Amino acid sequence: RAKAEFDRRLCYYEHDMDEYARERRAMSKDLWLAVENNGFHLAYQVQKSVESDEITGYEVLLRWNRPGHGLVPPMDFIPIAEESGAITAIGAWVLRTACYAAAAWPEKYKIAVNISAVQLGQMELVTTVRDVLLQTGLAASRLELEVTETSIIADKQRALHILRQIKAMGVSVAIDDFGTGYSSLDTLRSFPFDKIKIDRSFMADVDNNDQSKAIVRAILALGKSLSVPVLAEGVETSSQLDVLRAEGCNEAQGYFLGRPGDILWTSSVTPLLRKMRL
Ligand code: C2E
Ligand code: MG
Ligand code: MG
Ligand code: MG
Repeated sequence: RAKAEFDRRLCYYEHDMDEYARERRAMSKDLWLAVENNGFHLAYQVQKSVESDEITGYEVLLRWNRPGHGLVPPMDFIPIAEESGAITAIGAWVLRTACYAAAAWPEKYKIAVNISAVQLGQMELVTTVRDVLLQTGLAASRLELEVTETSIIADKQRALHILRQIKAMGVSVAIDDFGTGYSSLDTLRSFPFDKIKIDRSFMADVDNNDQSKAIVRAILALGKSLSVPVLAEGVETSSQLDVLRAEGCNEAQGYFLGRPGDILWTSSVTPLLRKMRL
């Protein structure tokens, strides 16, 4: 009887696995189609100075409206794009489109672009960044790449080599989702980074949980002693922002300061973008 039950479950399991694999293949196919048909767009989320409330820049967030499915969250499609290799083409498109848009903004605003672990393992990223800066005319000092600790340690030496070359162009590097990856302190010691982004999971109860507040305070102290500015992600309320101000956090980003969306300046370049097939 146990054997029969086991076989029955295994059968369900295999059926589910087939279903799962089929869905991943279908999504992968649609992602490649989207690469060819300009099927992605970008949302921009404001980043502000905590002290002065001035805009310091915008983070670019990839959006995919999958035909027949609607908007798919990046967390659902990026792993599949990484697995299928489509992320290289998608990532290059994001860089090109974002830098082109940012070149039309006021010069004091930076543009922050998320880079996948797969891109961070490809020398091609160096060429892509160099070409994009040349093509769009964006000053290298206005581009910031966001990388996670986890994506850095996938192939540490290679990632270091690639990041050093990109940094030599004048582009800066931020550690994204800080505090949630592995080997945080080791990463800090050996990586040439210019900003720490505290993961939003620490922000949720920073205003009423002493432990979260202690962690945020520790990360701020770390940033201070390393002379690296710290940005807090996921700020959703004014009282969270109050805590950050009291603790001396440099920058903040989150729904309270602005939701990801379109920005005014990009609309004026859209016709040109189309013409250039960006
Ligand atoms: P991330 O880089 O940490 O981006 C921040 C995420 O938090 C975004 O989700 C943003 O919409 C969301 N967020 C911002 N403010 C708040 C807030 O106040 N509360 C809450 N609950 N959430 C907030 P999104 O757009 O779904 O992106 C998720 C992740 O997907 C990003 O996390 C990033 O790792 C990845 N991603 C997005 N765009 C790209 C891209 O162009 N390339 C790559 N490789 N990854 C990307
Ligand atoms: Mg990010
Ligand atoms: Mg983040
Ligand atoms: Mg995140």
